[in-house]
Amino acid sequence: MERLSYSRIESITKRIIVPPISKSIREQIINQADNRCEYCRSSSRLTGIPLVIDHIVPTSLMGSNEIDNLCAACYRCNEFKGAKITSNDPVTNEFILLFNPRKEKWSDHFSWANGGTHIIGITATGRATVLSLRLNNENIVQARAIWIGLNWHPPEN
Ligand SMILES: [Zn+2]
Repeated sequence: MERLSYSRIESITKRIIVPPISKSIREQIINQADNRCEYCRSSSRLTGIPLVIDHIVPTSLMGSNEIDNLCAACYRCNEFKGAKITSNDPVTNEFILLFNPRKEKWSDHFSWANGGTHIIGITATGRATVLSLRLNNENIVQARAIWIGLNWHPPEN
């Protein structure tokens, strides 16, 4: 009898429980987002790195593959978000639901600062998301400074 490795079992299980997201849904979400990460707003046209589809509520927490649970995210935001749906607001230290790009408007929770190099959270949700997803990590701040110099950033909407 074949002995299955843990990763093989995990990949089989995932295929049974979570059907893959179709190419057309993937394209629809990324087009609607104008090729921008819906958390940090970085354009894949500037980073050169294709966006991934983020489950707003992760499949490990029974989040669905329905379009209202999916958004476009850069690889980095998706990695930092991981399986989290909440994080602490650094001001009140309360645990807050992270920003939901399908239900909430980016500009209601975030604002650009320092000419666009930094994102500031203007609500508890915004602050918790900035911190949790490291929206001002050193690498992206350096990239934004270059994009600003070329008038490619920040995005208008
Ligand atoms: Zn991002």
